[in-house]
Amino acid sequence: MDTNISNNINTILRKIADLKEQYKRDDNINLLCVSKTKPIEAIIEAYDNGQRHFGENYAKEMFDKVELLNAKGYKDIIWHFIGPIQSNKIKLIANSASMVESIDKIKTAIKLNELRDTKLGALDVLIQVNISNEEQKSGCSYEDIDALINEILKLKNLRLRGLMAIGLNTSDEFILKEEFSKFKRVFDLYSSNIKDFNILSLGMTHDMDIAIENGSTEVRIGTAIFGQREYKRD
Ligand SMILES: *Cc1c(COP(=O)(O)O)cnc(C)c1O
Repeated sequence: MDTNISNNINTILRKIADLKEQYKRDDNINLLCVSKTKPIEAIIEAYDNGQRHFGENYAKEMFDKVELLNAKGYKDIIWHFIGPIQSNKIKLIANSASMVESIDKIKTAIKLNELRDTKLGALDVLIQVNISNEEQKSGCSYEDIDALINEILKLKNLRLRGLMAIGLNTSDEFILKEEFSKFKRVFDLYSSNIKDFNILSLGMTHDMDIAIENGSTEVRIGTAIFGQREYKRD
């Protein structure tokens, strides 16, 4: 994997543009640079290449990066929290993220709403759905989406923007296509009825193509931009 972040970003942006054309997408597809485990120098390099959306998985790591980069003057970064949400980290997440993509429980939404500093404005949120039905994976089931949406729409400090999912970790395109097209159909049902519900966060390094084919409006790319992650926590 190339570790030249600038080249990697150009390659990904070109690929997104090609896929948009191939699948006749005339809407916008946002690139979320997933910088988890990567140092702030890597984030700054992506920033200098025009990127503003960054995704983090660990609350404390995101908080530290936000503080450091704010102090250095990088104040227009839009931070997305995309990891599992531990209840003792909700305050940290509520006040350092601009968007939280991994809500899968009503309890978490209520707490985020309660702890969000109103001076920061409403927090954009996505509901994470476990579309591959894997036991160990975060995300609510399809059956839970209705109830979660109804609750979140009542919370004044949250603004519900759409859905997020992680595809099955497989190279089987047939499975991914089935999974993603079903998810897109469900997303469309809600997006046509709910104001501002227009973000479908789907697709990572290995399945970005199929995600864009199936209506993703935000791809979350880590490895193809920053290279392999050297360590994993969990
Ligand atoms: C790590 C991560 C990504 C990025 O995955 P890559 O395969 O490195 O592109 C995207 N989404 C979530 C939720 C992640 O945790």
